[in-house]
Amino acid sequence: MPEEPCQCPDCQRFYREHDRLIRENPSLRQQQELSWAALQAFRTLAGRVLEELQKHYPEPDPTPAPAPAAAEAEPVAPETEAIQQAMGDLENINAHLFSIEALMERIFDVRVPEEVEQKFREVAGELAPDPLNADRLRLNRLLHQTPDLPDRG
Ligand SMILES: [Zn+2]
Repeated sequence: MPEEPCQCPDCQRFYREHDRLIRENPSLRQQQELSWAALQAFRTLAGRVLEELQKHYPEPDPTPAPAPAAAEAEPVAPETEAIQQAMGDLENINAHLFSIEALMERIFDVRVPEEVEQKFREVAGELAPDPLNADRLRLNRLLHQTPDLPDRG
């Protein structure tokens, strides 16, 4: 029994976006530029947000002077705690993006002959209009881990 692709709104949005990226960037060169631009945009935006947060929510002093016994330590507001958590998460994301960039640089050094680029365009034309493309379904499963629902029909 062939597996039906999930048709939930998230998956459908993914299918459309996946196909659009192939249709509009059907060569190796274009895929390289696209991925590089996306990575850099992600880094720029996440990095700037982190900077902004760091300005408004300075790190708690790691070595506070011992509080006088009478003074109660001021409780951290829950929303501040959530922001601190988010800042830590963003720092991790930025570190991962930095690592990805180092790996991508190698991928992006590659240049192929026009013959091969032509093959890319050919295959892209075959892939993008196919709503049941196997590679796409595989990618989709990686991004969207909920089990496939039975077809509504
Ligand atoms: Zn789905």
